[in-house]
Amino acid sequence: MQDIVRVCWTATSLETPRIWQNCSRCDARTPFVCSGKFRVNAHGKRIDAWLIYRCVQCDQTWNYPILERTPLTEIDPSHLRALSENCGRLAERHAFDVARLRRYSDQIEERDNVAVEARLLSQCDGEPRTLVVSIAVPRPCRIRLDRLLASGLGLSRAAVQRLHDAAVLIVSPPSRAALRQPVRDGQTVTVDLRSVGSASGLLSAALRDTS
Ligand SMILES: [Zn+2]
Repeated sequence: MQDIVRVCWTATSLETPRIWQNCSRCDARTPFVCSGKFRVNAHGKRIDAWLIYRCVQCDQTWNYPILERTPLTEIDPSHLRALSENCGRLAERHAFDVARLRRYSDQIEERDNVAVEARLLSQCDGEPRTLVVSIAVPRPCRIRLDRLLASGLGLSRAAVQRLHDAAVLIVSPPSRAALRQPVRDGQTVTVDLRSVGSASGLLSAALRDTS
């Protein structure tokens, strides 16, 4: 259709999840953050590797096991190099693997500080009537959909809720509580621009990167 503007928002978490552990130095349960550094130890022909986390209060370390007595012959040389060179991408991949982190703590705190990159997918010739936002979430992030929409559309959260209640803003796949839940990869939000106060302001906000 000619009167639809399509935009893709890629939401990327700016902070890795924190893992809550008992800190022996603080003598309390505290959040630990990923340092981005690995520690690798060799025991003969077997390798241990950890990703190092630090207590936010006292810097005490907690070692997150990545390899445990793994035979050297089973480790790809490029993987071993990435571990010993503190490859940022590898550290990030482990630090965002919330399902695996849960093995070590029942409290994983995903952060809601995200950057959003907006990309125009298709423009329309005449006056736009509908805005369709496709949301991509390449790695887990906790930001609620209403917060993402408020910042991305230049509205208050209450305004987003009102538009949703009036079915001017529709979330797909549909879910009653979708606005209050974390954004999900593949979600689509459709806004009927004829029913909003400032369609041009909303459109220009939707095309702007935010963080
Ligand atoms: Zn501590």
